[in-house]
Amino acid sequence: MNKKKKMGLTTKIFIGLFLGLIVGIIFNLYIPSSYIKDTIIVAGVFDVLGQGFIRLMQMLVVPLVFFSLVTGAMSMGDTKKLGKIGIKALVFYMITTALAITLALMLASVVKPGTGIDLSKVVGNSAAEVAPAVSLKETVLNLIPTNPIKALAEGNMLQIILFALLVGIILANLGEKAHNVANICEEFNEIMMDMTMIVMKFAPIGVFALIAKTFSSLGLSAILSMVKYMLTVIAGLGLQLFVVYMVLLTIFARVNPFKFLKKFFPVLGFAFSVSSSNATVPLNINKLEEMGVSRKISSFTIPLGATINMDGTAIMQGVAVIFAANAYGITLTPQNILTVIAAATLASVGTAGIPSVGLITLSMVFNSVGLPVSAIAMIMGIDRILDMIRTSINITGDAVCTTIIAKSAGEEYFNLEKFNS
Ligand code: ASP
Repeated sequence: MNKKKKMGLTTKIFIGLFLGLIVGIIFNLYIPSSYIKDTIIVAGVFDVLGQGFIRLMQMLVVPLVFFSLVTGAMSMGDTKKLGKIGIKALVFYMITTALAITLALMLASVVKPGTGIDLSKVVGNSAAEVAPAVSLKETVLNLIPTNPIKALAEGNMLQIILFALLVGIILANLGEKAHNVANICEEFNEIMMDMTMIVMKFAPIGVFALIAKTFSSLGLSAILSMVKYMLTVIAGLGLQLFVVYMVLLTIFARVNPFKFLKKFFPVLGFAFSVSSSNATVPLNINKLEEMGVSRKISSFTIPLGATINMDGTAIMQGVAVIFAANAYGITLTPQNILTVIAAATLASVGTAGIPSVGLITLSMVFNSVGLPVSAIAMIMGIDRILDMIRTSINITGDAVCTTIIAKSAGEEYFNLEKFNS
């Protein structure tokens, strides 16, 4: 049985997904309702395993985002000499993410991936409601925590993000004076990344239980919306890659975008298989150097991008929001949509560049407009494959921004001959 010792996590998750699907459908179609089936197995075992896994993921959110941001901001402050480049990168990263999420929301509003299922049946949250509208003034004021500890304890992400950024920037400015705290933050960041990896080991079981529960309650009707959701995310990612990035490269870097894509393709493939922006950083920098982009810029903007710029993740989150709203029969107001754009842009900043974190920060986006977090259970099973694709988009976004910034910084930083060779 144990012959193949090293079966990858992705494979295991797929097996969990597939088995969950089969068991769920068999339960739904062939096993009549009974105490054992409904209460013990579906609402008992499946639910405990599935919800247990969701709780494990939720456990990670606050510390993961906090330390990932503090260390991200710290490394940015380190490179103050690059001040101008830093600001440019930041602005570019934010704009491309906001574009990505807007694109995803528009696309998903047309496709309506979550219509046709009633999630309130599965999660039992029939009282799902959109959060009461808050005025713009309150939204702005709410970014500032009156008590950072309370913000952390309550998981108020926007406040946590603001506080974390301040801590990170100040740590970078203080340098040696606060190196103990800086080291502790870096070490905690490592701990949280490791913990994420450990939690993800339970993903196959969690996915099995979640999918089995979903399909035993919903049957085949759920498959269609899951496929619709998946295809919508993939279409959004495709548009970002083949339209948005290509146009940006043409207009701002004035290089042949197809040449860019062709040369950059191996990096995309690598990101696809490791599902981690962080792990792709060295390859990304090397490849860009081969393409004429100076390391002086990329060694700063690529790791920064791997930490804060997640266009692909934002696209998945945008589609997921519409999917959940559809599935719960919730109508989002224009103000809700703006909140989602802001929350997903910030969530992308707080998403660490390792596998599956986008799914964790998705709960923050859902919370921002009061969508039931339990809807994430529905898409969790297929998230692994989407994670692979969106990570490829995430790192391409970093590379596109870096190329544009290098080009605008002058010939010293971008060698067009090398690019064209
Ligand atoms: N895996 C993604 C990345 O490393 C993050 C995510 O889960 O969306 O870029």
